[in-house]
Amino acid sequence: MKRGQRLRQIVNMLDLTTPLGLLIAWTSGSTLCRGPRGLIIAAGYGWGLPHAGAFTMGNVVLFRAPPGAAGNDPVLLGHEERHCTQYAYCLGLPFLLLYALCAGWSLLRSGNPASRNFFERQAGLAAGGYIGPGGRLPDLPSEKRNEA
Ligand SMILES: [Zn+2]
Repeated sequence: MKRGQRLRQIVNMLDLTTPLGLLIAWTSGSTLCRGPRGLIIAAGYGWGLPHAGAFTMGNVVLFRAPPGAAGNDPVLLGHEERHCTQYAYCLGLPFLLLYALCAGWSLLRSGNPASRNFFERQAGLAAGGYIGPGGRLPDLPSEKRNEA
């Protein structure tokens, strides 16, 4: 693990977002395993919200996909890893408020919560499944999207 990844792991542990992610994973019945670069993969997340195939809390990446399939897409995992870094530089829980503000701004500007959202743009809209071929937003119901 590189120094920056280790620093991110420590920050997200101390700012309590990784413990919160582990709590969500355990209480939702997800299966945990070690991921690359200090990430923790939680497979089989089954709660209704958020309406997405994957989301990140601290260093924990939660997938609806079952064990063995979760975390296998390196592009999507890279997108979620960038959110993991965003948690660290926002010092944890403030990320959730800032993300919500950016999603609201994006919704007002574009009609969807991602395309004008600073954090989703920085994490990569295409990698997160927000942009389809030709640079267009895919017309998918939220539960079919790659991530939140
Ligand atoms: Zn994202």
